[in-house]
Amino acid sequence: MSSSTKHDWLRRYGILISILIAFVLRVVVGLALTIVIPKAADRAGVNAWLKALGDVFVRLIRIVIPILIFFTISAASSSIASARKLGMILLWMLMLYIGASILAATWGVLGGVIFQPGTAVRLEVPPGYTPPKPPSGVDILMSFFQLDFSALLTVGGSMTMIIFAILLGVATVVFMGERGRVVARFLELGSELSISILRLIMYYAPVAVFCYAAWLISQYGPEMLRAYASFLGVQYGFTFFHFLVIYSIIAAAGGLSPLVYFKHQLTPFIVAFTTRSSAVTLPYNMEVAKRMGVPDEMFKVTLPIGATINMDGTALYQALSALFIAQLFGIALTPAQYGLVVFSALVASIATAAIPGGGLVMLAYVFSVVGLPLEGIGIMAVIDTFADAIRTAINVSGDNACTVLLTRILGYKLQK
Ligand code: ASP
Repeated sequence: MSSSTKHDWLRRYGILISILIAFVLRVVVGLALTIVIPKAADRAGVNAWLKALGDVFVRLIRIVIPILIFFTISAASSSIASARKLGMILLWMLMLYIGASILAATWGVLGGVIFQPGTAVRLEVPPGYTPPKPPSGVDILMSFFQLDFSALLTVGGSMTMIIFAILLGVATVVFMGERGRVVARFLELGSELSISILRLIMYYAPVAVFCYAAWLISQYGPEMLRAYASFLGVQYGFTFFHFLVIYSIIAAAGGLSPLVYFKHQLTPFIVAFTTRSSAVTLPYNMEVAKRMGVPDEMFKVTLPIGATINMDGTALYQALSALFIAQLFGIALTPAQYGLVVFSALVASIATAAIPGGGLVMLAYVFSVVGLPLEGIGIMAVIDTFADAIRTAINVSGDNACTVLLTRILGYKLQK
């Protein structure tokens, strides 16, 4: 490793430490508020401001979601469609990626059901919130196809936006010939631009997180910390299970010893854990794929696409978050709604941008599909640095495990 890479790592650990300090500060401010103004009723004014400053972040996210989904999905679908000659690789890759993410989201639901991390404290449901009616199969199907185009510009219309974006991306490539390339390029630039807007909004995240944390602790006391700790405990536990067990099976099925896979995967794992970005980790993941003997023509397709659409850690996190928020607000979910959680977490993880906090933003989609208060995003933002680190590490590791298996399925050999 070059000395500049070492320097980078040091800087990233520095970031991690400052994140920890910032977290402790937020909690201290929340607790200090309860000491300085002991009566809850007297704190109401300050609390309202703290919450409002956090809500600004949630609202900014709601604004950017339709644009983000439109560009990222249409750009990804046009680039997949334009690689038609790679048909078999793409087909198997999508099946594996989707299968692994469904499994991960299922662990998220199981973790939430078994360990109930959100029952430590009961939050007040936001004013104006109406609990969801358990939807029928027909309701769910029709919710994917909103009546009017204007609905696509709301968080609730995200699924229709996704369908529209896929149709647009594919039509651009299949029917527009040479001229379609210009549109495809535009979509790609739009995707980069919308991710840049998100990055910009993320500069406000520390303020929002600070305010939300102080508000939650001041309003609900240290029990909130217990709820957060058990969420992270369940998330880390199930995520490691997915990493160690499922990826062992996938690597072994691909003809690679799981131990060799874990040994190689360690570096991208740590880089992803500290940078919290699959996009930033991509070069490290590619280097490792090469060292494991995956042919270039394979990983050069599967890893960049995987970095954008295959996010097992994120799917697990988003599913678990939905249950956590439902439990915090005392909203009971039916088994059919658990199915909806898995499905929406899969879709959201595909649409998640490979940058820090991308998965937090897409919670807006999951919560709106399941019918949970969108304030939940602010609540999850408080611990997102910790939650993001592990989900990103697993996101990138999954891409490589699936790539090893794909190599075997498609009749290539690992070049040792
Ligand atoms: N940070 C994650 C990644 O880059 C995405 C997420 O926030 O879930 O893979």
